[in-house]
Amino acid sequence: MTSLNFPRPLRTIMPKNLPILIFLLFVVVGIVTAALAEPILLLNFTYIGGMFALGLHWSQHASKRNKNRGRRFTQLTVGLYMLLFLGLFARQNMQIEGLWFWLLEGAFAGAVIHYSVSKVFGPLIIGRSWCGWTCWTSMVLDTLPFKRSPGRVPGKWGWVRYIHFALSLGVVLLLWHGLSYHPDMHGWSLDMLLWLSVGNLLYYGVAIGLAYALKDNRAFCKYLCPVTVPMKLGARFSLLKVEGDASLCNNCDACSKLCPMDVKVQKYVLDGERVASSECILCSRCVQTCPKGALKLSLGLDGIHSQDQVRQQPTR
Ligand code: SF4
Ligand code: SF4
Ligand code: SF4
Repeated sequence: MTSLNFPRPLRTIMPKNLPILIFLLFVVVGIVTAALAEPILLLNFTYIGGMFALGLHWSQHASKRNKNRGRRFTQLTVGLYMLLFLGLFARQNMQIEGLWFWLLEGAFAGAVIHYSVSKVFGPLIIGRSWCGWTCWTSMVLDTLPFKRSPGRVPGKWGWVRYIHFALSLGVVLLLWHGLSYHPDMHGWSLDMLLWLSVGNLLYYGVAIGLAYALKDNRAFCKYLCPVTVPMKLGARFSLLKVEGDASLCNNCDACSKLCPMDVKVQKYVLDGERVASSECILCSRCVQTCPKGALKLSLGLDGIHSQDQVRQQPTR
């Protein structure tokens, strides 16, 4: 792996202060988006930041056995809020097709704000925390029985998500320009309700089917989800990452084996690097698992990492 690391002083391990920093970050985002678009966005982002911070705080202070409950709390309180309240009640289609429609209309609203914050600029600061803590699809996927990943299916299956991303954009462009289909996206739009319901049912159906077929709860996230395309770019440079202390590590590799995204955590630790993989969803499972307390979340700057280190299933 090609990497160029900044010296250690540019990193700060601050897990204790993380919940309050996350909360303040979301309040600032709320103030900016409220000024640029609608005042209600301050309330929206304060709520999301508050639930995220509470879940993190819970996870930090719970016993080792119960640490995951904090993350589940955030997944449920934010996921249900976005899916049921913003989606089904307020009829905001936050799925990727909703983003394309809003962009084609040229409006800074709805899914454009959601994607700008959580998928484009947010990952530069808090990586793919969206995927680990707040996504409403993973809120359901994480309840399925295949919590221990068997590793990645050999081959370049991760590219399928880029095809999905292009297909989603292509279909919307065809509808908009080719068939002059311009759905109503304002107010209590029936069009948006249909896109949201059908889109989510399809995503849930495919994601759950894939989890059972591959015996891996997060299979959809690894191979098919188009939303990861913009997120992976920012996540590579994220300020928040997992950091390991090689002098404490006993090479047990429990962190890599229990990572739901198959990240080779131990390799990064032994190489003296923070976990720069854009596949990391910052779920903290490795941090909670490490028997030596060698892993922490830290804020800092890293150099340029050219590829993800992920665990593959052995070829037969
Ligand atoms: S990869 Fe997609 S489905 Fe999985 S958690 Fe992230 S946004 Fe949600
Ligand atoms: S779980 Fe901890 S001790 Fe074991 S390999 Fe990972 S970092 Fe090292
Ligand atoms: S590397 Fe750690 S924090 Fe990242 S996805 Fe894997 S278990 Fe979660």
